[in-house]
Amino acid sequence: MKNLHNALLLKQLYQLKELGYKYTSSKPFSYEEQKNLELPHSLTKLKKQVQNCHLCSLSKNRNKIIFGEGNENADIMFVGGIPIEMEDDAGKIFLGRGGDMLTAMIEKVLGLRREDVYITNLLKCHPLNTQELHETPFHTCKAYLFKEIELVKPKIIITLGKEAYHYLTNETSDLKEIRGNMTSHKNFKLMPTYHPNFLLKNPSLKKEVFIDLQKVKSLL
Ligand code: SF4
Repeated sequence: MKNLHNALLLKQLYQLKELGYKYTSSKPFSYEEQKNLELPHSLTKLKKQVQNCHLCSLSKNRNKIIFGEGNENADIMFVGGIPIEMEDDAGKIFLGRGGDMLTAMIEKVLGLRREDVYITNLLKCHPLNTQELHETPFHTCKAYLFKEIELVKPKIIITLGKEAYHYLTNETSDLKEIRGNMTSHKNFKLMPTYHPNFLLKNPSLKKEVFIDLQKVKSLL
Protein backbone atom coordinates (compact mmCIF):
# COMPACT_ATOMS: atom_id res chain seq x y z
CA MET A 1 0.00 0.00 0.00
CA LYS A 2 2.85 2.34 0.85
CA ASN A 3 4.18 2.26 -2.71
CA LEU A 4 0.85 3.06 -4.32
CA HIS A 5 0.30 5.74 -1.72
CA ASN A 6 3.68 7.24 -2.61
CA ALA A 7 2.89 7.01 -6.33
CA LEU A 8 -0.40 8.83 -5.89
CA LEU A 9 1.20 11.39 -3.65
CA LEU A 10 3.91 12.02 -6.23
CA LYS A 11 1.34 12.37 -8.98
CA GLN A 12 -0.56 14.94 -6.95
CA LEU A 13 2.57 16.91 -6.07
CA TYR A 14 3.75 17.01 -9.68
CA GLN A 15 0.33 18.22 -10.78
CA LEU A 16 0.46 21.01 -8.20
CA LYS A 17 4.00 21.89 -9.33
CA GLU A 18 2.82 22.15 -12.94
CA LEU A 19 0.11 24.54 -11.74
CA GLY A 20 2.81 26.74 -10.22
CA TYR A 21 2.59 25.72 -6.55
CA LYS A 22 5.86 25.77 -4.64
CA TYR A 23 4.41 24.74 -1.32
CA THR A 24 1.32 22.90 -0.15
CA SER A 25 0.16 22.11 3.34
CA SER A 26 -2.98 20.25 2.32
CA LYS A 27 -3.31 16.56 3.25
CA PRO A 28 -3.20 14.50 0.05
CA PHE A 29 -5.71 11.77 0.95
CA SER A 30 -8.55 11.24 3.33
CA TYR A 31 -8.64 8.15 5.56
CA GLU A 32 -11.47 6.68 3.44
CA GLU A 33 -9.39 7.07 0.25
CA GLN A 34 -6.35 5.50 1.90
CA LYS A 35 -8.28 2.31 2.60
CA ASN A 36 -8.67 1.77 -1.17
CA LEU A 37 -4.98 2.12 -1.97
CA GLU A 38 -4.03 -1.50 -1.61
CA LEU A 39 -2.90 -3.17 -4.83
CA PRO A 40 -4.57 -6.48 -5.81
CA HIS A 41 -3.12 -9.72 -4.51
CA SER A 42 -3.07 -11.57 -7.84
CA LEU A 43 -1.13 -10.88 -11.03
CA THR A 44 -4.29 -11.09 -13.15
CA LYS A 45 -6.02 -8.41 -11.09
CA LEU A 46 -2.86 -6.34 -10.91
CA LYS A 47 -2.60 -6.41 -14.71
CA LYS A 48 -6.20 -5.24 -14.95
CA GLN A 49 -5.42 -2.34 -12.64
CA VAL A 50 -2.37 -1.40 -14.71
CA GLN A 51 -4.53 -1.47 -17.87
CA ASN A 52 -6.61 1.29 -16.31
CA CYS A 53 -3.70 3.22 -14.83
CA HIS A 54 -3.40 6.95 -15.45
CA LEU A 55 -0.94 7.72 -12.69
CA CYS A 56 1.55 9.36 -15.02
CA SER A 57 1.54 11.14 -18.36
CA LEU A 58 2.70 8.04 -20.28
CA SER A 59 -0.88 6.76 -20.18
CA LYS A 60 -1.87 9.48 -22.68
CA ASN A 61 0.02 8.02 -25.62
CA ARG A 62 0.16 4.32 -24.92
CA ASN A 63 -1.57 1.82 -27.19
CA LYS A 64 -1.30 -1.10 -24.82
CA ILE A 65 0.27 -1.60 -21.43
CA ILE A 66 3.20 -4.01 -21.27
CA PHE A 67 2.80 -6.16 -18.18
CA GLY A 68 5.07 -8.93 -16.92
CA GLU A 69 4.85 -12.41 -18.45
CA GLY A 70 6.03 -15.90 -17.62
CA ASN A 71 6.03 -18.31 -14.72
CA GLU A 72 4.11 -16.75 -11.83
CA ASN A 73 6.13 -18.85 -9.38
CA ALA A 74 9.49 -18.39 -11.05
CA ASP A 75 12.76 -18.52 -9.12
CA ILE A 76 14.23 -16.03 -11.58
CA MET A 77 12.76 -12.68 -12.51
CA PHE A 78 14.21 -10.43 -15.22
CA VAL A 79 13.46 -6.73 -14.86
CA GLY A 80 14.00 -4.50 -17.89
CA GLY A 81 13.48 -0.77 -18.03
CA ILE A 82 11.54 0.96 -20.79
CA PRO A 83 9.22 -0.74 -23.30
CA ILE A 84 9.84 -0.16 -27.02
CA GLU A 85 7.30 0.86 -29.68
CA MET A 86 6.85 -2.66 -31.04
CA GLU A 87 5.86 -3.81 -27.56
CA ASP A 88 3.42 -0.93 -27.20
CA ASP A 89 1.64 -2.06 -30.40
CA ALA A 90 1.51 -5.70 -29.37
CA GLY A 91 1.09 -5.35 -25.60
CA LYS A 92 3.82 -8.00 -25.22
CA ILE A 93 7.10 -7.76 -23.39
CA PHE A 94 10.63 -8.08 -24.82
CA LEU A 95 9.93 -8.39 -28.53
CA GLY A 96 12.27 -7.80 -31.48
CA ARG A 97 15.98 -8.45 -31.54
CA GLY A 98 16.40 -7.51 -27.88
CA GLY A 99 13.70 -10.03 -26.97
CA ASP A 100 15.38 -12.70 -29.09
CA MET A 101 18.65 -12.04 -27.35
CA LEU A 102 17.01 -12.31 -23.93
CA THR A 103 15.46 -15.64 -24.95
CA ALA A 104 18.87 -16.88 -26.10
CA MET A 105 20.41 -15.79 -22.79
CA ILE A 106 17.75 -17.72 -20.85
CA GLU A 107 17.96 -20.85 -22.99
CA LYS A 108 21.65 -21.06 -23.83
CA VAL A 109 23.22 -19.77 -20.62
CA LEU A 110 20.71 -20.57 -17.89
CA GLY A 111 19.48 -23.75 -19.59
CA LEU A 112 15.85 -22.76 -19.01
CA ARG A 113 12.89 -21.98 -21.26
CA ARG A 114 11.61 -18.41 -21.50
CA GLU A 115 8.33 -19.52 -19.95
CA ASP A 116 10.20 -20.86 -16.89
CA VAL A 117 11.17 -17.36 -15.75
CA TYR A 118 9.15 -14.21 -15.12
CA ILE A 119 9.98 -11.18 -17.28
CA THR A 120 8.81 -7.67 -16.54
CA ASN A 121 9.73 -4.03 -16.96
CA LEU A 122 10.04 -1.08 -14.66
CA LEU A 123 7.70 0.99 -16.86
CA LYS A 124 4.47 -0.54 -18.08
CA CYS A 125 3.83 2.10 -20.78
CA HIS A 126 6.01 3.05 -23.74
CA PRO A 127 7.20 6.67 -23.73
CA LEU A 128 7.02 8.56 -27.03
CA ASN A 129 10.39 10.16 -26.45
CA THR A 130 12.88 8.45 -24.15
CA GLN A 131 15.18 11.48 -24.29
CA GLU A 132 12.53 13.60 -22.58
CA LEU A 133 11.58 11.01 -20.01
CA HIS A 134 11.59 12.43 -16.47
CA GLU A 135 11.84 10.58 -13.18
CA THR A 136 8.13 10.74 -12.34
CA PRO A 137 6.91 7.74 -14.39
CA PHE A 138 9.66 5.56 -12.94
CA HIS A 139 8.74 6.49 -9.39
CA THR A 140 5.01 6.07 -9.91
CA CYS A 141 5.22 2.86 -11.92
CA LYS A 142 7.59 1.06 -9.59
CA ALA A 143 4.68 0.44 -7.20
CA TYR A 144 3.49 -2.17 -9.71
CA LEU A 145 6.93 -3.70 -10.05
CA PHE A 146 7.25 -4.08 -6.29
CA LYS A 147 3.85 -5.77 -6.19
CA GLU A 148 4.90 -8.18 -8.96
CA ILE A 149 8.00 -9.05 -6.93
CA GLU A 150 5.87 -9.57 -3.82
CA LEU A 151 3.51 -11.89 -5.71
CA VAL A 152 6.02 -13.93 -7.73
CA LYS A 153 8.56 -14.13 -4.88
CA PRO A 154 11.62 -14.79 -7.08
CA LYS A 155 14.81 -16.02 -5.46
CA ILE A 156 16.96 -14.09 -7.91
CA ILE A 157 16.20 -10.85 -9.73
CA ILE A 158 18.32 -9.97 -12.76
CA THR A 159 18.06 -6.28 -13.59
CA LEU A 160 18.70 -5.40 -17.23
CA GLY A 161 20.17 -1.95 -17.71
CA LYS A 162 20.69 1.03 -15.47
CA GLU A 163 17.06 2.16 -14.95
CA ALA A 164 15.86 -1.15 -13.53
CA TYR A 165 18.82 -1.35 -11.14
CA HIS A 166 18.67 2.28 -10.12
CA TYR A 167 14.94 2.44 -9.33
CA LEU A 168 14.80 -0.98 -7.72
CA THR A 169 17.66 -0.35 -5.32
CA ASN A 170 17.81 3.46 -5.11
CA GLU A 171 21.51 3.05 -5.91
CA THR A 172 22.97 5.52 -8.37
CA SER A 173 26.29 3.75 -9.03
CA ASP A 174 27.46 3.44 -12.61
CA LEU A 175 26.27 0.14 -14.08
CA LYS A 176 29.78 -0.48 -15.42
CA GLU A 177 31.09 -0.60 -11.85
CA ILE A 178 28.46 -2.76 -10.20
CA ARG A 179 27.51 -5.08 -13.06
CA GLY A 180 28.03 -8.70 -12.13
CA ASN A 181 28.11 -8.05 -8.37
CA MET A 182 25.37 -10.11 -6.84
CA THR A 183 23.88 -8.55 -3.70
CA SER A 184 21.55 -10.03 -1.08
CA HIS A 185 18.30 -8.27 -0.28
CA LYS A 186 15.58 -9.13 2.20
CA ASN A 187 13.80 -11.76 0.09
CA PHE A 188 15.97 -12.19 -3.00
CA LYS A 189 19.42 -11.91 -4.52
CA LEU A 190 19.97 -9.27 -7.15
CA MET A 191 22.25 -9.47 -10.18
CA PRO A 192 22.66 -6.27 -12.21
CA THR A 193 23.70 -6.71 -15.83
CA TYR A 194 23.41 -5.05 -19.23
CA HIS A 195 20.17 -4.77 -21.19
CA PRO A 196 19.93 -6.90 -24.38
CA ASN A 197 19.20 -3.76 -26.45
CA PHE A 198 22.46 -2.28 -25.15
CA LEU A 199 24.28 -5.49 -26.12
CA LEU A 200 22.94 -5.19 -29.66
CA LYS A 201 24.86 -1.93 -29.93
CA ASN A 202 27.85 -3.19 -27.92
CA PRO A 203 28.24 -6.86 -28.86
CA SER A 204 31.71 -7.07 -27.30
CA LEU A 205 30.02 -6.87 -23.87
CA LYS A 206 28.07 -10.08 -24.41
CA LYS A 207 30.78 -12.10 -22.69
CA GLU A 208 30.35 -10.06 -19.52
CA VAL A 209 26.63 -10.83 -19.43
CA PHE A 210 27.49 -14.47 -20.05
CA ILE A 211 29.68 -14.44 -16.93
CA ASP A 212 26.92 -12.73 -14.88
CA LEU A 213 24.37 -15.34 -15.92
CA GLN A 214 26.83 -18.17 -15.21
CA LYS A 215 26.99 -16.86 -11.62
CA VAL A 216 23.19 -16.97 -11.46
CA LYS A 217 23.16 -20.47 -12.91
CA SER A 218 25.55 -21.69 -10.25
CA LEU A 219 22.95 -20.77 -7.61
CA LEU A 220 20.07 -22.63 -9.25
S1 SF4 B 1 3.82 4.10 -16.90
FE1 SF4 B 1 3.04 3.02 -15.10
S2 SF4 B 1 2.38 4.63 -13.71
FE2 SF4 B 1 2.52 5.55 -15.75
S3 SF4 B 1 0.46 5.34 -16.62
FE3 SF4 B 1 1.67 3.56 -17.29
S4 SF4 B 1 1.17 1.98 -15.79
FE4 SF4 B 1 0.58 3.94 -14.88
